[in-house]
Amino acid sequence: MTKYIVVAGGVMSGVGKGVTTASIARILSEHGFKVTTIKIDPYINYDAGTLRPTEHGEVWVTDDGGEIDQDLGNYERFLDVDVPKINNITTGQVYKTIIDKERKGGYLGKTVQFIPHVPDEIKRRITEASKGYDISIVEIGGTIGDYENIPFLFAMKSMERELGKDNVVYVLITYLPIPSHIEEMKTKPTQQAIRLLGETGIIPDFIVCRAKKPLDKIRKQKIETYANIPSEHVISEPDIDTIYSIPLDLEKEQLGIKILKELKLKPKKEPNWSEWKKLVGRIKQPKKTVKVAIVGKYVEIGDYDLADSYVSVNQALIHAGASLDLGVEIHWVDSKRFEDNSKNIDVLKNYDGIIVPGGFGASGVEGKIKAANYARLNKVPYLGLCYGLQLAVVEFARNVCSIKNANTAENAKTNAPVIDILPTQKELMEKSQYGGTMRLGAYAAVLKEKTQVLKLYRETGRLKEDGEKIEKLKKDKEQQFRLGILDHNKNIVLERHRHRYEVNPKYIDILEKNGLIFSGYHLREDKTKLMEYIELKNHPFFVGTQAHPEFKSRLGNPSPLFYGFVNACGKR
Ligand code: GLN
Repeated sequence: MTKYIVVAGGVMSGVGKGVTTASIARILSEHGFKVTTIKIDPYINYDAGTLRPTEHGEVWVTDDGGEIDQDLGNYERFLDVDVPKINNITTGQVYKTIIDKERKGGYLGKTVQFIPHVPDEIKRRITEASKGYDISIVEIGGTIGDYENIPFLFAMKSMERELGKDNVVYVLITYLPIPSHIEEMKTKPTQQAIRLLGETGIIPDFIVCRAKKPLDKIRKQKIETYANIPSEHVISEPDIDTIYSIPLDLEKEQLGIKILKELKLKPKKEPNWSEWKKLVGRIKQPKKTVKVAIVGKYVEIGDYDLADSYVSVNQALIHAGASLDLGVEIHWVDSKRFEDNSKNIDVLKNYDGIIVPGGFGASGVEGKIKAANYARLNKVPYLGLCYGLQLAVVEFARNVCSIKNANTAENAKTNAPVIDILPTQKELMEKSQYGGTMRLGAYAAVLKEKTQVLKLYRETGRLKEDGEKIEKLKKDKEQQFRLGILDHNKNIVLERHRHRYEVNPKYIDILEKNGLIFSGYHLREDKTKLMEYIELKNHPFFVGTQAHPEFKSRLGNPSPLFYGFVNACGKR
């Protein structure tokens, strides 16, 4: 039987509920349990696919093509597992299922009501996603006191009644502010969060206290008395340099053992943190540091810049750096600066490497093309991710193949669309079907012999790992479609995608003749080939991919392309 841990947040959002959940998951899996994590997003959107990144951070893509809140990314990065899309539940999904069923007469004439039908559907979804696991951690998005997460808390309370208290543990994560004018840590907001949670009938078993500094004894006692829980269940989680030290810090507080005790479980094995500790040590104190420019289109929200839109790229660089014992200093460079004034491109000489990450629309595109041009000519390591591949191809077509009007159809109308919309996408766009309709999720790519890309997938062990995954997937009809047709079984890798445009097949020949190497492709059932990777000869590292390899990068198991890129940066 699966046991549940419910994680909810009090006081305010953005205190690191996701990474704490991921850390607890990692700790319990180190103790020998099969753990899964579920994220509840109480918004009405069906998924995160149509959300602007500036609204809600980066959109995370799962293997099975889900467009999800970025917390699922934290789960994967900490647990080193692939989390499927059913592990994200939104209010929109719950209501859609209920209304669809009602329209089909599925309720046999009964009145469909908030209680019991909404909590029932929530419980059904949670149970389904938890099947086969020892422990399922359910993170409830939003903050206690929000109207919209009440149905989910209600559902968990109801699960507790059905399963018994020994099988459900509640963790409340709060924040203790230290107002600068008094320099004193305040517990009042936490007390109020405990009270608000109590209104749903839930008494937390553990309270994790996020704050700038560790909690002192007096405050621990205050919370203990207020919440009526033993003080060893009040856990201090102060700010740290890297999120990856959180599992280690929580272990010091023995949170894993304490949770297991509450769940009446005995550890199945002794945790082994040695590798994790080594990597965290390197993140904190690397031998050497490289400087990387991520050239993108940045939008400001009020007075704050939003680097959150590229959180996975950021993390993938950290993972690669940790494996190579290199620190990576990331700088966000706005591509529009190169458009306003060509001379601004000179700032790029301050960096050991350039990344053009994923993106959409025409804004800032000419600046990104200039950055790709700079990297190619000045032999600066370049990694193009999705749009970053497409724009590197445009640059190559314009300046090496002399196709003056070369462009992506996404940027401007042109008679030389070297990057064009996928034919299947055109129709969808005409019908305004935006949600969940991109080319999404993991697809297989066949890698060409003797390429740098193949070498990297081989060296990092990913070629072997993906080969084994593919063998398993082949048994599944639906997944077979994802894989595409495989003309042979060698050198196949899987990466996740999220795009509508591709390298126009009409231009492949001329690009190749001029020296652009297409190092991998995906073969569709209709036998058309989609170009998945590019690289250049006589350049220390100039690689682009149509995929988003950052979604499959984990601490201790970095993405091959990021590994190659950071390594090349380190050699400069
Ligand atoms: N806008 C491009 C496309 O849709 C690239 C997408 C991306 O970078 N994720 O194909």
